[in-house]
Amino acid sequence: MNSWLAQAQPGVQGLHPYQPGKPLSELEREYGIQGAIKLASNESPLGPAPGVCACLQALISHREGISRYPDGGGFSLKQALANKLCISPHTITLGNGSNDVLELIARVFAGPCNSIVYAQHAFAVYALATQAVGARHLVVPAQGYGHDLPAMLSAIAVDTKIVFIANPNNPTGTWLTGAVLEDFLTQIDPHIIVVVDEAYWEYVTEAEYPNTMMWIERFPNLIVTRTFSKAYGLAGLRIGYAVSHPEVAGLLNRLRQPFNVNSMALAAAQAALADEEHLAKVVALNHEGLAQLTQGLTQLGLEVIPSVGNFVCVDVAQPGAQVYEALLRTGVIVRPVGNYDLPNHLRISVGLPTENARCLNALEQICVR
Ligand SMILES: *Cc1c(COP(=O)(O)O)cnc(C)c1O
Repeated sequence: MNSWLAQAQPGVQGLHPYQPGKPLSELEREYGIQGAIKLASNESPLGPAPGVCACLQALISHREGISRYPDGGGFSLKQALANKLCISPHTITLGNGSNDVLELIARVFAGPCNSIVYAQHAFAVYALATQAVGARHLVVPAQGYGHDLPAMLSAIAVDTKIVFIANPNNPTGTWLTGAVLEDFLTQIDPHIIVVVDEAYWEYVTEAEYPNTMMWIERFPNLIVTRTFSKAYGLAGLRIGYAVSHPEVAGLLNRLRQPFNVNSMALAAAQAALADEEHLAKVVALNHEGLAQLTQGLTQLGLEVIPSVGNFVCVDVAQPGAQVYEALLRTGVIVRPVGNYDLPNHLRISVGLPTENARCLNALEQICVR
């Protein structure tokens, strides 16, 4: 029998697939539970703006909305994004989720003779993208759970092509100030691509949090990625984007599939962008929920990593997988993060106030005895 494993590219042989949060339907099926809640994938508890669903309904009500190929250039959405962010549409690359863009960046710039730098506890897709292209992993120890940018700068090797930075980071919720990030960009060799992943950008209200869009001209090696999956509530449709120097965008757009973003996602993203009121509601609810979870967990005697995202990472002082299992039996899905080098932590997404309370109550029964 031919060993197909040996036929695969070395990077691919060592690949472990991304572990997604457990779907609600799977929990209900496996445990025979009804009315479970999911606080496991940083989805928005308020979902998309009402206009999004209306716009999707309009699209599917005439057949051509489905039978025609999408606009491969994403003209209309790029125009709307450019207006909103005060950038040129030529700096934008659209992706089937920002995951798609992160992987594109790895494929455009790195291969088996290169290395990619990222932080311990950083978002799992950086390791996956590095592995998939066969590049070397340069994983830099975190400092107080956050990225240690000076250490990341020192870790850069002659073959380094890309540095991935999550701001804020998932699953820790830690973040970097504009001053620290700007310092890093000033010091790094300008031939190295610096990816700043801002998947939770809309949620962050800290004054020191940078507006990286303003830096693209000054640092042509900078790529900023964002998504419609989190605050805009479109995770199921898969759409995200990168903003970069137009020539970098040109490279990314050359490699991406011609129709990597579907018609529904394009239309939904544009409708979502238009509703600032809904976004403000989402952000306000998240602030309340973050405070509710942080205070509740602290009162249980558990240590919470301060977060600016729509989730918290908490030290449950025992194997997280165990508490995760116990929570599942009460119908609450959270995320174990042992695969992030955090075996005693759980990541809990901010839900509706009642969902947050239910999670806290269940944790009290499990952790405090
Ligand atoms: C969720 C997330 C993403 C990507 O999500 P998409 O759904 O692919 O857009 C990227 N980076 C971080 C840090 C995330 O948490």
